[in-house]
Amino acid sequence: MNIRIDCPQCGGKIDFDEKSFVIRCDFCGSTLHLAGKNHICHFRLKPKWTQRRATHYLSELLRKKFGENVKLLKLKLLYAPYWRIHGTVFRWIFGKKLVKAVQSSPFGSYKEDTKKLQTKLLDLSFPAFQGLSFGLQSLGVRTSALPLLIFGNVPNEPDTFFVKTNTSFQDAVKYMKAFANIGLEVIDIDPELDDTQEVGEQYSIVYVPFWLIQVLAGDKREVLVVEAISHSTVKKLKRAEIGNLKKLLLKPDDSTSLPALKFIPFKCPECGWELPFHPYNSVHICKTCARGWFEYGGKFHRVNYRLAEPPAKISSDKTVFMPFWRIKVTITTKTRIIKSMSDITGKGYQPYRKSLLSSGQDVPMNFIVPAFTIKNSKAFNKLAAMLTANPSSYQFSDEVNPKKQKFGGVSLTFSEAEEMCRVVLLSLIPPFARKAVDELKEAKFKFSNHELMYLPFQAERLFLRDVHTGFAIQKGSIYLQETD
Ligand SMILES: [Zn+2]
Ligand SMILES: [Zn+2]
Repeated sequence: MNIRIDCPQCGGKIDFDEKSFVIRCDFCGSTLHLAGKNHICHFRLKPKWTQRRATHYLSELLRKKFGENVKLLKLKLLYAPYWRIHGTVFRWIFGKKLVKAVQSSPFGSYKEDTKKLQTKLLDLSFPAFQGLSFGLQSLGVRTSALPLLIFGNVPNEPDTFFVKTNTSFQDAVKYMKAFANIGLEVIDIDPELDDTQEVGEQYSIVYVPFWLIQVLAGDKREVLVVEAISHSTVKKLKRAEIGNLKKLLLKPDDSTSLPALKFIPFKCPECGWELPFHPYNSVHICKTCARGWFEYGGKFHRVNYRLAEPPAKISSDKTVFMPFWRIKVTITTKTRIIKSMSDITGKGYQPYRKSLLSSGQDVPMNFIVPAFTIKNSKAFNKLAAMLTANPSSYQFSDEVNPKKQKFGGVSLTFSEAEEMCRVVLLSLIPPFARKAVDELKEAKFKFSNHELMYLPFQAERLFLRDVHTGFAIQKGSIYLQETD
């Protein structure tokens, strides 16, 4: 999905992918950081025609369809709000699977412990107004085909109105939860634990333009609503719906108070130099003063980060520092509080790296989740589970030199990493470990000590290899945005 804005410097049009954090104007070259992405942003789609052209076209259409009997009297432009939600869904199912006996087998059919992870990208939309219908239940392909405009600046033309949102954010969350599992059904497992987690959900409101048409049909006045982009839906409003619509109508003037995307200059607040430009990065490391920054509430805030030192034998020009969130997790179950690795060893969870546990140290429950996007959600989870289960004792370096070192870009927030922790923990439980599965059913997770940590990876031809564990990720599966 693309968003289109007018460059605040030169007025030129800038189109950018909705996943971007930083944008650059092709006309004047200015670089800007988006602010307010963590709010529910309001967008609108543009009608295909101007009011004059639409009047002409729709009159013709009515005449062709109904002859001289039906006449267009008046036309108004109406924007109606739709919730749009996107993110990733992870669904873990633990349970029993029927294994059918082979005919010659002396054993009968039996049930086997099993587990399965299902994932999907979530992209849902539905009307954010109740009490009337315009015949359009979702945005469909409209948002992938057309750029979204920021809602705050609807031209204040006569006969333009918008429908007030009367479906709350809480309702939208409920709706999303009801649809999260669709397409992730598993038919061959008798579930004992069914755990769905949405990660990185973003909520926005998209206003779709409709033409509200008053027609004279014989001697009766009727109100029709036609979707104003593809003109694919036509709906006759019932009397009660017209009454409801009147209660929900607002003038465009009222739209200026809606939260919209804003822009801040892309400069280091400490030393004033321009930060390195990478559209999908959310954490920016200044090349001059090496400080890390992220935007929140329209301002840059410091991010503390640490660099794990690669072993001496790795040549530094092949090292890429990939970002990870390290989060300490405390789990409260019905019967106990899990705080350290020793609380879960031998309790049905997968064995952790023995060398660390036998060192006698009390190893805290630190979860390590990639702060970069891996296109395949299962591979993303696998890397997180692998690093969490095999904690290395990293030596952190004091020497950071962003002019010489290569960094992978941070595109996931720490709250997305928090949402991943449950998925990761369930990955660490073997399918037969009933005790652990039962324990986690109603467990509460608490997060603390968040830290951004860069781990050294060695660049090979097609892979990046974690120099501590040897685990490799395909270069093609990540958006590698090293700062050069
Ligand atoms: Zn510009
Ligand atoms: Zn700086």
